[in-house]
Amino acid sequence: MVTVGRRQATCQTSGMDGFEGKTAGRAPLTYPFGEDSPDVGDTMEVAPGIHWVRMPLPFSLQWINLWLIDDGEKGWTIVDTGMPLDETKTAWRKIFEEKLDGRPVWRVIVTHMHPDHIGNAGWIGRKFPDSEFWISRLEYVTCRMLIADTGREAPEAGTQFYRQSGWDEAQIETYRSRFGGFGRGVSRMPDAYHRLEDDDTFEMAGETWRVIMGNGHSPEHSCLFCEALNVVISGDQLLPRISSNVSVFPTEPNANPLRDWLESCEKLKAQLPEGVLVLPAHNEPFIGAHPRLDHLIKGHGVALKRLKQRLGQEPRRVVDVFPAIFGRKIGDDVISMATGEAIAHLNYLLASGEAEKSVDADGVAWYRSPS
Ligand SMILES: [Zn+2]
Repeated sequence: MVTVGRRQATCQTSGMDGFEGKTAGRAPLTYPFGEDSPDVGDTMEVAPGIHWVRMPLPFSLQWINLWLIDDGEKGWTIVDTGMPLDETKTAWRKIFEEKLDGRPVWRVIVTHMHPDHIGNAGWIGRKFPDSEFWISRLEYVTCRMLIADTGREAPEAGTQFYRQSGWDEAQIETYRSRFGGFGRGVSRMPDAYHRLEDDDTFEMAGETWRVIMGNGHSPEHSCLFCEALNVVISGDQLLPRISSNVSVFPTEPNANPLRDWLESCEKLKAQLPEGVLVLPAHNEPFIGAHPRLDHLIKGHGVALKRLKQRLGQEPRRVVDVFPAIFGRKIGDDVISMATGEAIAHLNYLLASGEAEKSVDADGVAWYRSPS
């Protein structure tokens, strides 16, 4: 693991999930399955008809949780699919052979378009040609857009964005050389989809489920909540020990994803019961959605407060404010994610009038407290 001050970070740019550990202690959570978890290629039932599947990731974040759901005669639903690694595909093949009771996968639902979630959606869809692919519209089109970048040269808007952030030429060259990598981390996408919208209801595992849409970590992230089972499949929108990456990207440099993220945390708190069993995409299933959401909100509040203090001392570049958010120096392995997250915090302060920004003759942005 790459330790970044009080937080731990995934170490590759395609690992978009975030930083593990938190700034101020831990929320009081309970883990009803303790140390138990399914082996790769096996499943473990965590609620009636809901089977936990765990697949490896090539990051410091080692696992992703996926869900195989029994829809009776219709067949099976898969929620999230893992990265298109040989080991993951082998494990899926084993599950398809041993765990489906001869019934097909009829539906693949993807919470959001990051490669560890959507990576095998197309591959599974081609194995089960009659299956449907369910995802929100913004996740679908954003994924298609990012895949279309593969093979293109890095755009000037991207180099300008990172130059503004204070990156040196070697770091910008690394950005250029890695540009378009997203498309290499996902299998060929399904060409059609069924759109998930906020507050949609649908049947799964013989019960009614409702979509709770979140934003900030990805454009339009679906959480799936079942009141009857008191279960929520939370994707990356609510994780017990990782604070999900909330980043600004060069395509929308003035975005305010932190505001979206904080509003989503409040929304989830308002809509989820306190005792709900949370099935997150990383770490283990847990109970304690409310204290965890409070903790995440508080963590960003602490970072914003430290950031304001730093800007009050003297004008700073994006790369100068990492210590306010991450606690210590950020290595080049995580600089992209750290830059995106630092700008998310800075843009939040710009939008609320608590910071000002100006760009100097070299194209570097400086942030300061309002005069
Ligand atoms: Zn994600």
